[in-house]
Amino acid sequence: MTNINPYESTIKQLEKAANIINLDKATLEILSYPKRIVEVRFPVRLDSGEVKVFHGYRIQHNDARGPFKGGIRFHQAVDMNEVKALAFWMSMKCAVMNIPFGGGKGGVTVNPKGLSEAELESLSRAFIKAIAAVIGSRVDVPAPDVNTNPKIMDWMVDEYEKIVGHSEPAVITGKSLDHGGSEGRGIATSLGGKYVLDEAIGKVSLDSGTLKVAIQGLGNVGGNMFKLLGEDKKYQVVAVSDSRGGIVSGAGLDYDKVMGHKKETGSVVGFVGTKEITNEDLLELDVDILIPSALENQITKENVDKIKARLVLELANGPTAPEADEELHNRGVVVVPDILANGGGVTVSYFEWDQNLKNEHWFEKDVFSKLEEVMCSSFNDVWEISKKYRIDLRQAAYVLAIDRISLAMRESAK
Ligand code: NAD
Repeated sequence: MTNINPYESTIKQLEKAANIINLDKATLEILSYPKRIVEVRFPVRLDSGEVKVFHGYRIQHNDARGPFKGGIRFHQAVDMNEVKALAFWMSMKCAVMNIPFGGGKGGVTVNPKGLSEAELESLSRAFIKAIAAVIGSRVDVPAPDVNTNPKIMDWMVDEYEKIVGHSEPAVITGKSLDHGGSEGRGIATSLGGKYVLDEAIGKVSLDSGTLKVAIQGLGNVGGNMFKLLGEDKKYQVVAVSDSRGGIVSGAGLDYDKVMGHKKETGSVVGFVGTKEITNEDLLELDVDILIPSALENQITKENVDKIKARLVLELANGPTAPEADEELHNRGVVVVPDILANGGGVTVSYFEWDQNLKNEHWFEKDVFSKLEEVMCSSFNDVWEISKKYRIDLRQAAYVLAIDRISLAMRESAK
């Protein structure tokens, strides 16, 4: 894989969309840089008694439409350029979803798998202490990301509330249900993606007969998508994969049985009656719909010619490399871009924030019906722009986002 600076890629995407709508130079310049960069070093006492200093970031890209919003990642590969790119994408995603948030992201350079539970809690609390001065329910609202989860969010809120001296659950979303989390957050990204997929197949006349689907990655997002599609007769999941490899069966795969096998053995590979394939093979299968749900840069200029799907739904962030993206568009393959397809997660985070601020707790059915409304209207807004400017859905999503953000920036400059 070529070593691409993710932040440079985001700037290219931004410039392309800015050209289409003749965005003024000042707005383009502002959107090209984060509004604020916070870089922290903070000490954590390990179980051995040793004090180790960690390196963390909170990048606040844009808040013209509302508080900065975005997750906190714990990973050994976290660096400034990655967090800057992720913060930029959050501004775009929140604007496409039309929810009242800007974009931000945080991260700590750490391999959390090497820490004990007590060390992980100390690290989480120490990081929040280090960035407490720049977050808040009306300022910047973090959430979980790679290797962080509801339990970690609960520790972070608890630490923040100790510092400010009052209850403020809306400062962080993605909390556990017992600590002010929202119903439906676990499945929100996949369900949001399913609503978008149902809309998309109607628009591109893919809605006759059963549609064959391949899903790469079976984590939170891919696993829940497998379940949802298995419950809908319009779709037949014929291939799935995890980090150890994939399986394919022309007769279709049963969610409960495949996941039961994965639970027992650690992988889908070896499931009875299926053929073993690699993750690369999965991408090239003769299916109607391909759903990358694992890693970035999976569809590249090396394999783009072999992709046979007619529609790609990007549940992962950044699974299609820019040069492959153009090629797919030229060949008439519809790519529903990440900042639209996987926006269901941040949308339910917004619902959580809203419930916390109002001291409410919504039923799951209400969360789902509001999510459907947001996803379908975002899809249709992007679709209309793609028709208006004769551009693909990714460019249309960027045009929509930049237009909405620049409008808010002009309003706030008045
Ligand atoms: P996760 O850690 O739960 O799952 C990732 C899965 O990817 C793992 O289960 C593993 O089976 C699979 N995997 C790892 N290496 C692989 C490989 N080489 N080939 C195929 N599969 C491999 O993560 P997740 O929360 O499901 O996130 C998946 C993607 O969706 C990421 O790109 C993430 O940024 C994006 N995303 C997640 C959310 C969310 O709400 N969780 C929201 C928006 C976007």
